[in-house]
Amino acid sequence: FQEEIRKAEKLKLVTGIAASVAHEVRNPLTTVRGFIQLLGKEGLSQRNRIYYQQICLEELDRAQQIISDYLTLAKPDPERIEPIHILAEIQYVANVLSSYANMQNVRIEIDMERCVQDIQIVGDQSKFRQALINLCKNSIEAMPEGGTLTLATGLYKINPVISIKDTGIGMTKEQLNRLGTPFYSTKEKGTGLGTMVAFSILRTMAGEIETTSELGKGTACTIIFTKNPAGAMLPAADQQS
Ligand code: ADP
Ligand code: MG
Repeated sequence: FQEEIRKAEKLKLVTGIAASVAHEVRNPLTTVRGFIQLLGKEGLSQRNRIYYQQICLEELDRAQQIISDYLTLAKPDPERIEPIHILAEIQYVANVLSSYANMQNVRIEIDMERCVQDIQIVGDQSKFRQALINLCKNSIEAMPEGGTLTLATGLYKINPVISIKDTGIGMTKEQLNRLGTPFYSTKEKGTGLGTMVAFSILRTMAGEIETTSELGKGTACTIIFTKNPAGAMLPAADQQS
């Protein structure tokens, strides 16, 4: 029965977001269509040709960005429940984002001293990765002048916890309130989807998210997995059996 509720909730989530993503992708496509028509006109100056082409490319990049921020959530894969080794995933995400971080002089640090090894939850690994990547990307983007992104995992009482901390620009109270709402972005090329998708994924995994932020100091995001979506946290010790 619980399984049914979970599936229904997931469907509601995915279809709701899909509608807004579809809307958001349609805009750049409409623009591109119009400019391609213009490109076919006779007697177009070289300058305009280059200009129209540039608009098309930028709009297509934007559509691509929207889709990639949203991608894993929309992937129509069968319900996947697998053990997720949190520390290994954090290390994976740190590797994936290392060149992106380097470009902005951001150091990614995994706080091994604070990390508890062998903490596992269950869920869909690729979605979990997407959630972490979206959040960590925001942290890196919040440090245009460089800084440190610190990742850790541990336990709060008996609950697995992940912490993502940056030394970036931070947010005001108002900005913090809007975090995670669809299409809220302060970036010139932002989609305003990354946080919403990440929060949605984590919530379906019974993750409670708390974000604190101080303007000019940085942002800290803590995710506590209160209970497993399947109600079955796999303690590390039981893994071998
Ligand atoms: P996008 O990154 O495309 O703008 P997101 O949903 O990922 O969309 O983030 C929404 C907004 O929340 C960002 O534009 C930014 O203003 C703010 N934000 C998110 N994470 C952070 C962070 N770690 N530090 C500062 N601001 C952040
Ligand atoms: Mg983002």
